[in-house]
Amino acid sequence: MTTVIDGKALAEEIITSVKHQTDKLKAATGITPGIAVIIVGEDPASQVYVNSKSKKALECGFHSVQHNLPEQTDEAELLALLDNLNNDPEIHGILVQLPLPKHIDEGRVIQTISPDKDVDGFHFINVGKLGTGETESAFVPCTPAGAMIMIERQCGKDLSGLNAVVVGRSNIVGKPMFNLLLAANATVTVAHSRTKNLPELARNADILVAAVGRPQMINADWIKPGAVVIDVGINRIPAPEKGENKTKLVGDVDYEQAFEVASAITPVPGGVGPMTIAMLMANTLTSAARIAGAPKPQF
Ligand code: NDP
Repeated sequence: MTTVIDGKALAEEIITSVKHQTDKLKAATGITPGIAVIIVGEDPASQVYVNSKSKKALECGFHSVQHNLPEQTDEAELLALLDNLNNDPEIHGILVQLPLPKHIDEGRVIQTISPDKDVDGFHFINVGKLGTGETESAFVPCTPAGAMIMIERQCGKDLSGLNAVVVGRSNIVGKPMFNLLLAANATVTVAHSRTKNLPELARNADILVAAVGRPQMINADWIKPGAVVIDVGINRIPAPEKGENKTKLVGDVDYEQAFEVASAITPVPGGVGPMTIAMLMANTLTSAARIAGAPKPQF
């Protein structure tokens, strides 16, 4: 019987835990976790993401600030805002919604965020910590952090003896996923667009993570019977069966096919997606607890 890993329910569980642990932190230290979310420009999809992050933060009992900056904001202005937020004692997490307009150097912006408030986990210090196995003190990027919790729930925290294959090597998903799996003692292979014999490689995986951005690329033939399949991909494709000009979201895995072979699988939508915001809240609480000298929250 294949388990469908319900990301919505798991994300709700994490949010409930964040709320409880936030109340405890407030009672013990008087500190309220604070998050600042910054968006530059009017991209509608980014606006939706940012609004839902700010809303979720309020739901968690956080102090939440949103900065909506116009498209023409210059880099110096954004860097000055980050400097203020880095020094603001009420803010424990800073998130800059990507992508930024072309005239702003994204790398410089990310590296200006204090590593102690870098709840997205993109600063070199946090990347370096994760890469050297300092998973306890690093901020881990939210999507792979959420995927890892899903894997732990299926396979336990120690993945000794298990083969994991991650398809995709981005800095946001593939590489941090590799580091998390390695830190949990899995034997990990990272595949990408130049990899040869990808289906054969994937068939070796007890844990298969897809983070490619190609709709339904991975079919049953790629999956070892009994594997745990984590589909990070979010792709919009035409859905003529729903009516003219209608679309739907699918993952990088052909869900119907994979369901027949895997022991557990994440659906799209409703799988890894909802975990990302939940982990952002978890990281912000962790940051506040660190600054307060309180024990690290557990999820
Ligand atoms: P990127 O485009 O940054 O990276 C894609 C990776 O897939 C690259 O490493 C690329 O290889 C590899 N790739 C591309 N084509 C192939 C192929 N034919 N065979 C093997 N590997 C291939 O994407 P992201 O990592 O940012 O995102 C991946 C997916 O995850 C997307 O669908 C995205 O929407 C989704 N996503 C979902 C999130 C969520 O759930 N909240 C958050 C972030 C992403 P190469 O390096 O050689 O080019």
